[in-house]
Amino acid sequence: MIDTHCHIDFEEYDDDRDKVIKRAREKLDAIIVSGISLESNHDVIKLSDKHASFIYPSLGFHPVSSQNCSDSELKESQKHLIDNIKNIVAIGEVGMDFFYVKDKSLRERQKEIFTKFIEIANDYKVPLLMHVRDCEKKALNLVLNYEDIPYIIFHCYGGSLKTARRIMERDNYYMSFSTMLCYSQKHQDLIKNISLDHVLTETDSPYLAMTKEERNEPANVVNACKKIAEIQNIDLDIVDKVTTNNARKVFNI
Ligand SMILES: [Zn+2]
Repeated sequence: MIDTHCHIDFEEYDDDRDKVIKRAREKLDAIIVSGISLESNHDVIKLSDKHASFIYPSLGFHPVSSQNCSDSELKESQKHLIDNIKNIVAIGEVGMDFFYVKDKSLRERQKEIFTKFIEIANDYKVPLLMHVRDCEKKALNLVLNYEDIPYIIFHCYGGSLKTARRIMERDNYYMSFSTMLCYSQKHQDLIKNISLDHVLTETDSPYLAMTKEERNEPANVVNACKKIAEIQNIDLDIVDKVTTNNARKVFNI
């Protein structure tokens, strides 16, 4: 089992990060930690160096926190990303967030920044891990223009079934489902109709725990797999095997 998206570099884990990683090692094959800013990208590299062959780095620039960034900050992040491109498993999380951001000009700015990262993924042929909340269809239409991105991942997919069906038309496009499956009816309804061949699993720790007050952690990805098995009425072993293989292929780990 693999947690393909979490943030255990965050300060929420400063007191017990080693214990959290130890619990993850007991249950999982690997973890992918996703950076959200230049500062977090530095931490992600350090953490993955320390736990090589278990923690893998993905470097990104979160759409909500990045929309007000200066051009120099953006350039520096892109330089850091390109300098590390050979050592990362994906670019992300990057994207757009139309749930939190309603302002039209800020949405345009998000799209502009996102496009720069898409171009890097396309130029360097690196998987793209996207945060595209409430704009899944727009993001799909955008990335379909780029032929050289090896894999596209819709992190924590929450779009329509119609868009999901279009995503499933592409062999190299994936949707990841989180521990949110344990309480979100919307995601439970979606996963009923999504082929396992396009599914990855994640926790988005420290967010999206089984109860909203709790801090999430990578070992909990088991709960997402159990929920998929229950809803699709198949063995947990099969969910584990297929989604782990998907993640190994997508991130080349
Ligand atoms: Zn995230």
